[in-house]
Amino acid sequence: MRADDSNERMIRDQIVARGVTDRRVLDALRSVPRELFVPSHLRSCAFEDGPLPLERGQTISQPFIVALMTEVLRPTANDSVLEIGTGSGYQTAILARLARVVYSAELEPDLARDVRARLDQLGITNVVLGVGDGVHIFRDQAPFNAILSAAAPLEVPDELLEQLADGGRMIIPIGSADLQFLYLFERQGKEIKRRQLDPVRFVPLRSGP
Ligand code: SAH
Repeated sequence: MRADDSNERMIRDQIVARGVTDRRVLDALRSVPRELFVPSHLRSCAFEDGPLPLERGQTISQPFIVALMTEVLRPTANDSVLEIGTGSGYQTAILARLARVVYSAELEPDLARDVRARLDQLGITNVVLGVGDGVHIFRDQAPFNAILSAAAPLEVPDELLEQLADGGRMIIPIGSADLQFLYLFERQGKEIKRRQLDPVRFVPLRSGP
């Protein structure tokens, strides 16, 4: 089957079927070939309904989770977005299609190295990549209208909430290796609302040097 057809099927069977309906998110998923972001020996698994291993013990997120997090985050064309945990760059590319600019941080230099070339191949120019701890390294670009973390802390870092703009939203998995949930934080002035969403399993958020 052609990769385009596989991508379309993945979107229909795994994503729309589970309730993600936002047109902009679905169009963004259509425009990013997932197989480009998967290690070459796993290309045949690119459209499977689960996470896949990356180098250095990290993972590329399950397609449905990428779609769900993006839909809940609602990035718009004026938004400045912070992403923590670039990994393969797949989620980064989806966010870049929807937002004005994406600042994406990855702790592992080996992973970050390949991402720029993949984004270039798709003509994506509105991403700033950084190697280091995403909780800190883009502080001087704050506030962000949206923050997405692909790595799970045990508690929400105050420093991330501080980088959220008024009206901004943050989606982040929180918890231990065995028990994690996605949370949505929304800032209204000084007030921060928090809502628990689906159970998930992400790699732990680690502290940078
Ligand atoms: N959305 C990515 C998920 C990658 S897994 C994808 O689908 O490819 C999460 C990534 O977070 C890992 O690559 C890990 O190295 C990175 N990470 C963990 N703690 C981090 C931190 N404090 N700052 C930046 N990246 C971090």
